Amino acid sequence: MSKVLIIGAGGVGRVTAVKCAQHPAVFSEIMLASRTESKCIDIANDVKKRTGRTIQTAQVDAENVPELVALIRSFNPVLVIHVALPYQDLTIMDACLETGVHYLDTANYEPKDEAKFEYSWQWAYQDRFKEKGIMALLGCGFDPGVTSIFTARAAKHFFDEIHYLDIVDCNGGDHGKAFATNFNPEINIREITQNGRYWENGQWVETQPFEFRKELTYPNIGQRSSYLLYHEELESLVKNFPSIKRARFWMTFGDEYLTHLRVIQNIGMAGIEPVKYKGMEIVPLNFLKAVLPDPGSLGDNYSGETSIGCRIKGIKDGKEKTYYIWNNCSHQAAFDETGAQGVSYTTGVPAMTGAMMMLQGKWMNKGVFNVEEFNPDPFLDVLGKHGLPWQEEEGIDLEL
Ligand code: NDP
Repeated sequence: MSKVLIIGAGGVGRVTAVKCAQHPAVFSEIMLASRTESKCIDIANDVKKRTGRTIQTAQVDAENVPELVALIRSFNPVLVIHVALPYQDLTIMDACLETGVHYLDTANYEPKDEAKFEYSWQWAYQDRFKEKGIMALLGCGFDPGVTSIFTARAAKHFFDEIHYLDIVDCNGGDHGKAFATNFNPEINIREITQNGRYWENGQWVETQPFEFRKELTYPNIGQRSSYLLYHEELESLVKNFPSIKRARFWMTFGDEYLTHLRVIQNIGMAGIEPVKYKGMEIVPLNFLKAVLPDPGSLGDNYSGETSIGCRIKGIKDGKEKTYYIWNNCSHQAAFDETGAQGVSYTTGVPAMTGAMMMLQGKWMNKGVFNVEEFNPDPFLDVLGKHGLPWQEEEGIDLEL
């Protein structure tokens, strides 16, 4: 029986709250806090309708450590599940340190003034978390998150050495809008417009944005154009599985999406440097977020599926072999269960499941950890039951 504090009331916060509420034996009391309390109240009302459970709500600025500390002290949770934005990772980790509370997130820290994703800032908390006797679980969404746990399963049960890892992320869904992002537009556009990067023979190779494209076939979806991007889990995976010779990440984009993105960039709307407008400073990308569809509103009439997985080649018993492990998630089924579309669902379900692993003591240690450092079996044993069933196949053509 444990109290949890969920921070962030977007699409992922909604799914995490509903899913935690479905497991009262593990999450005995839940508080949802965010910058705008009315959004927490909307979600709490919905959670009550869907699960019969009452969750508490609060207003908090997660960039303000004293405010966070006061909230944590007043509610007294065992764990904070951070599903607000990556900008707040360090302030929430600071507040967890001050109060002695465990921490979990789904995206690594990003400074606001630079689109730069790396674990160094959070890994630097290792000694302080250890000394305090608390744990931080980093990147427990789908990617990062389940993709790293899939890789850990492959390493544990299918390979002596993993040599080639390709993470493939397809959104085969249709929300009917000309242009919308599936999670926070600001974070999403920052992520995909920076240079690509992949790991090869012990070093990072940098690419232009969208320089490499492959036509990959996704289960139940078909062939989609997939582009090489940098994604944060590559950093921890090549560290934790040093036999990897090459690690890449691919994401699908439609032509229409890429055309809109190109225009947005060409006219300067993807900029993160403030500009002066009528005497006010505004960040173009912040403003763009305000006019784009709210990802949380995309659920209704969102058809199709996501398909995210890992395609792996390596050695077992001296022989080369291939292996593919993936999950497909229906946007409509996700929306019917939680009121949020598949991208929020595939992030919130693993966040709840990781929190469950920690609270049940199945994944517990002192310090700062990436998900692949724990035994993948107990997590993957329950992931399907929680709404994200997965499949695997050996000896197939990986198309890569
Ligand atoms: P949204 O933008 O929909 O929601 C973010 C929430 O955080 C909003 O409720 C927002 O409040 C709140 N917030 C922002 N700043 C603050 C602050 N200073 N203090 C308190 N609350 C704040 O994002 P999503 O729900 O789509 O995504 C949430 C997280 O999940 C992001 O970090 C994203 O990177 C991550 N993610 C991870 C994935 C994975 O697979 N690992 C995939 C998809 C997302 P307000 O409503 O007031 O703006």
